[in-house]
Amino acid sequence: MGLLTVGTPLSWEETQRYADHVRYHGIKQLINLYHRLKDRTNDCLYFGDEVEYTLVTFDPEKTKATVTLKAQHYLEEMGKLQAEGKINPDVTFAHEYASYVIEGIPGKPYGALSAHFNTVEEKMAERRRLVHSLLDSSNETILSITVFPRIGCPSFTTPDYPPQPQTSVSRSLFFPDEAINNSHPRFKSLTTNIRQRRGEKVAIHVPIYVDTNTPQPFVEDLPAEGSSAMKPDHIYMDCMGFGMGLSCLQMTFQACNITEARHLYDQLTPITPIVMALSAASPIYRGYLADVDHRWSVIAASVDDRTAEERGLKPLKNNKFVLNKSRYDSIDSYLSPEGRKYNDIRLTCDEDIVKELMENGFDEQLARHFAHLFVRDTISLFKEKVGSYDDTDTDHFENIQSTNWQTMRFKPPPANSSIGWRVEFRPTECQLTDFENAAFTVFVVMLTRVILSYNLNLLIPISKVDENVKRAQKRDAVLTEKFYFRTNVTTSCSPPDASECVKKGQCPGIVVGNTDRKLSSSESCPYAFQELTINEIMNGKEDKFTGLIPFIRDYMDNIEVDVDTRCSVSRYLDFLSKRASGELMTTAKYLREFVRNHPDYKHDSVISEEINYDLLKRCDHISKGLVPCPELLLAKESKSRSDIPKAVLVASTADRKTRKGSRSRSRSRTPSPSKSVV
Ligand code: GLU
Ligand code: MG
Repeated sequence: MGLLTVGTPLSWEETQRYADHVRYHGIKQLINLYHRLKDRTNDCLYFGDEVEYTLVTFDPEKTKATVTLKAQHYLEEMGKLQAEGKINPDVTFAHEYASYVIEGIPGKPYGALSAHFNTVEEKMAERRRLVHSLLDSSNETILSITVFPRIGCPSFTTPDYPPQPQTSVSRSLFFPDEAINNSHPRFKSLTTNIRQRRGEKVAIHVPIYVDTNTPQPFVEDLPAEGSSAMKPDHIYMDCMGFGMGLSCLQMTFQACNITEARHLYDQLTPITPIVMALSAASPIYRGYLADVDHRWSVIAASVDDRTAEERGLKPLKNNKFVLNKSRYDSIDSYLSPEGRKYNDIRLTCDEDIVKELMENGFDEQLARHFAHLFVRDTISLFKEKVGSYDDTDTDHFENIQSTNWQTMRFKPPPANSSIGWRVEFRPTECQLTDFENAAFTVFVVMLTRVILSYNLNLLIPISKVDENVKRAQKRDAVLTEKFYFRTNVTTSCSPPDASECVKKGQCPGIVVGNTDRKLSSSESCPYAFQELTINEIMNGKEDKFTGLIPFIRDYMDNIEVDVDTRCSVSRYLDFLSKRASGELMTTAKYLREFVRNHPDYKHDSVISEEINYDLLKRCDHISKGLVPCPELLLAKESKSRSDIPKAVLVASTADRKTRKGSRSRSRSRTPSPSKSVV
């Protein structure tokens, strides 16, 4: 979860005193890095994934499953093996917030050849195998689950530590400090400072899934402090660990330059809620079935450090702004020129920062983007970093940038590195198997190639994306919700251009009430988008929308792809297509159904120790491929491999030589049948 700077964390009182200092120098550092790197170009597509894995221990005698607080232990083991050269260099693991989570990433990024899409799944499998080979006991495992179902229930950790509400950094009634990663001071310091900045503990309220025997109203028997903070018919959680102790799958890719990065950041934004609904995998919190399928609002609330004034509950006195969202939430603005017209959310910004950035060469959109991120204060600062240099360092900039945890992240190149402008796609939930995680990764990255090659425009007003994000988290959203989506994606028609479209007879039509009609030339187009189901968005809707999957299939038909890669990507697309149509379940639905059909389930929304144990055992068996799971997965064998076949490498080198000099690297707008790179 972002920047890990070693050092001595300052107390909240000290950190707070440096808020303006960090902001001031963060902006100076941003300006300097922008000037150094804004013209950087010709970077090629590299991409990577991050999967956060949960360590779990099974106790068959007690029929109990717990999270294993051994992240640091296993990371140290891996470090030793790595130093001795005994570890697969394609596998890297890193720390995460929870002491039961480790984050796996590829040892080096995947590259631009289409054959790289075929390596993702196998590299994920190598990661999992490595951890399995290190586990201390056969009762331990590693699962790519998004939420441990009994997170925060009594004795949910191994070793068992009781929560210490009076003395712990989070003051949680449920979540012990030992479940927070202790190998690095950042995690506890963030936990304390978020609570202190807010002026009280965070409060997370997730609607309970009301089953036939769920008490009505559902009110938990909690200590006084908990009873005053909870809400009837909601599951109550009270600290950062309930959010940042959850896991996700993120993808990052490098764009060829800043313009392409801004473009792709925008174009993928309307896709975020669609992938949220498709990947939904978190229907259980603190041992209760919830009436949501996705973690997003839970994490947003878990790190919501806004004061009562900033949340609009009290008139502004000590704070400068009312802030509409937590620092973990959906993005508020598009960055590209074509996105400008769709920025219909008012951005809260310090106008002095906007002015400073614009005086230093930033266009207004980019200036407002960063100024909006910089309305947040630093929430963790290390003594050694207070004096970071404006010319060469980026610590203060990264301090704010990396604690804005949003659906998308626009990432300037890091200081002193060969890395270019990047974009991170952050909302996807973890899937149980490497196959599914690879499918989502390949889908998102391939979509970026399709967007560039076909010059697609997926933009809708950003306020509608926000509405979609809300819908995407609902129970079974994938089948029951509709989402605002642009159907005429091959045009850049937007309000100021509308009359042009009408004149040329290219008006895409608008939805007025429930009817669809063309505009007359005297009308202005209120944006061309409709409400579609996920199935229609992914698989297409007759006469209305081609569908994202058919677009990708078409693209694949127009590039050179080796047989195995084609086979794997087709499986990924088949899988996503079936999930969109409901032929396959989402992970969230599978977990919910498993609970509801368990003999120990009393239809009271409660996940007992026994249900939890059986559920996680089943997840473990599914991830290891030990049981078939036709409700979730496709049956065929994987063709994924960890290397690029020699023949593909030879062909691509020959192809590059032929094309050398004939064209410079630029954004390719039409798929060329002869292209071997994607
Ligand atoms: N675990 C967090 C999530 O589920 C993400 C932390 C990170 O940014 O790496 O969204
Ligand atoms: Mg992470």
